[in-house]
Amino acid sequence: MKRFPTSLLNGYRNFMSGRYVDERERYRVLADQGQKPHTLVVACCDSRAAPETIFDAGPGELFVVRNVANMVPPYEPDGQYHSTSAALEFAVQALRVKDIIVMGHGRCGGIRAALDPNAEPLSPGDFIGKWMGLVSTAAEQIQGNSVMTATERQTALERISIRNSIANLRTFPCVKILEERGKLQIHGAWFDIANGELWIMDPDSRDFVRLEG
Ligand SMILES: [Zn+2]
Repeated sequence: MKRFPTSLLNGYRNFMSGRYVDERERYRVLADQGQKPHTLVVACCDSRAAPETIFDAGPGELFVVRNVANMVPPYEPDGQYHSTSAALEFAVQALRVKDIIVMGHGRCGGIRAALDPNAEPLSPGDFIGKWMGLVSTAAEQIQGNSVMTATERQTALERISIRNSIANLRTFPCVKILEERGKLQIHGAWFDIANGELWIMDPDSRDFVRLEG
């Protein structure tokens, strides 16, 4: 049998002798009473943009779904496999989260791939290519913008994609109804992995505003 990665074993030992000691009681209560997270976060799989780390959240606080480029697909009850929609359904209908945050981030590989006209499928399935089709209309428009630098195009699509996901969130009847009743709030955020800045989407202008430290 192959060895389990040593760095993870060491990390687990550190967790058990450190953080777990502090949070043992919290884990016990959560195990007893079940989870009641207040917030659903839709985040990217990117190893540099972990919501629990960025928001300094403990166990039981955040219900997190991570996928390539932190996207929410539109409501499509078509009998196919929809993992993000399943997580969303559970968070909203069963856990009754009060807030949903779509959190994008800088230097997102998925967004970069969507902007690359020469991107080749990584495998015959081309799952990323298909998935990134969710933002293909905006990507095509931005690709053709020669007055922007590559970095500006990338940041623009990262943020447009967040707005696109928020629009898709509202195609889910349960989300739409609860938001209209004031029981659910939807937010956009963008995390700059280069310097740790968090930018929050203004709900009115839909511009991203840097959070003051
Ligand atoms: Zn990403």
